[in-house]
Amino acid sequence: DHGLSEADPEVRAIIDKEKGRQFRSLELIASENFTSRAVMEAVGSCLTNKYSEGLPGKRYYGGNEYIDELETLCQQRAIAAFHVDGKNWGVNVQPLSGSPANFEVYTAILNPHDRLMGLDLPHGGHLSHGFMTPKRRVSGTSIYFESMPYRLDESTGLVDYDMLEKTAILFRPKLIIAGASAYPRDFDYPRMRKIADAVGAFLMMDMAHISGLVAASVVADPFEYCDIVTTTTHKSLRGPRGGMIFFKKDPVLGVDLESAINNAVFPGLQGGPHNHTIGGLAVCLKHAQSPEFKAYQNKVVSNCGALASRLIELGYKLVSGGSDNHLVLVDLRPLGIDGARAEKILDLASITLNKNSVPGDKSALVPGGIRIGSPAMTTRGFTEKEFAAVADFIHEGVQITLEAKRLVSGSKLQDFMKFVASPDFSLMDKVSD
Ligand code: PLP
Repeated sequence: DHGLSEADPEVRAIIDKEKGRQFRSLELIASENFTSRAVMEAVGSCLTNKYSEGLPGKRYYGGNEYIDELETLCQQRAIAAFHVDGKNWGVNVQPLSGSPANFEVYTAILNPHDRLMGLDLPHGGHLSHGFMTPKRRVSGTSIYFESMPYRLDESTGLVDYDMLEKTAILFRPKLIIAGASAYPRDFDYPRMRKIADAVGAFLMMDMAHISGLVAASVVADPFEYCDIVTTTTHKSLRGPRGGMIFFKKDPVLGVDLESAINNAVFPGLQGGPHNHTIGGLAVCLKHAQSPEFKAYQNKVVSNCGALASRLIELGYKLVSGGSDNHLVLVDLRPLGIDGARAEKILDLASITLNKNSVPGDKSALVPGGIRIGSPAMTTRGFTEKEFAAVADFIHEGVQITLEAKRLVSGSKLQDFMKFVASPDFSLMDKVSD
């Protein structure tokens, strides 16, 4: 049996190139991180070979004594890492990732076409929270359930809880979803709980982006107010790619969440769990209980604060005016450029971040902002000083983007580019034959 270099030099070479890219670049994508060597070892282990459909002690295959031990340990660590009482909360650590975890919750507690409300994607929500456009139901969530997204107050960049309340009273959702992919502030869980109670809805928090911050208690605790909490495991939590669903053990609105959710994961939507991921997750959740992890998460937030302050000093407009967590959302529209061009130019300089829609945007393909996150470079040892320098680098990239736009507009090159795209150019093609 050969190692990868011998067995498949082609794949080895691609991995090496990606490793080089990760090593070289300023990794500022808010949903990414660098997991530990220990987690990678578990993920690359023999655990990947085993089938173990079912839950610990109740499997459909033999040979699961060690897998049972592992999954039970992972569950116990998950409960401990998020400081919840195992008498009141249970967890399923089998979801393959964040989107499946969310869909598993929906199918567990809703009937097809029941109503739900999540934060709209152009305002920072995630696809899996029910995204749809006026023309198309884009996400499976909006195809199989009736979605009525809530939005931000565009003047403040904060969730418009008053509008959420009014809409919920009219729409009567069975589920309200807190959580986001591009929201720089905490959610007001007490307010959302009140709204959910007023309309008889479940309240779920998708803490994917901030689960590391929640484990380290550097942001508000969703477990105090929510019935269900889902998460990915590979973002601020710094684990392997995967998902988890936490649920209250006592019935909520007459539903036994424990059996409904466990059954929705398997056999409802998944088959065999990815035991190598569960192994990596167990390692991550042990680390998440350590003082170093808490110090790391504090740095994630203070580094993001330093980045935000410097960007504000440089004159940038941040959605909501700043950040309480690990990300900032920069509105580039006042400068007359879009996030797509800035992302491209910054990428050329190995500064990796992503274009992002900002409230009021017309197009999702050419959105007006960029999202910048601090978790990954904090893992790489950056402090507030380096993050202030990162803001300066981004500023340079934005200046270059502006300059490029200025050079091209009104130039012969722009005319030429229009010509290349026109039917006349294809005629020229024929002439040259
Ligand atoms: N939930 C939120 C809030 C996210 O930001 C994401 C991913 O970015 C997900 C769920 C989905 O996770 P995955 O990509 O693992 O399906």
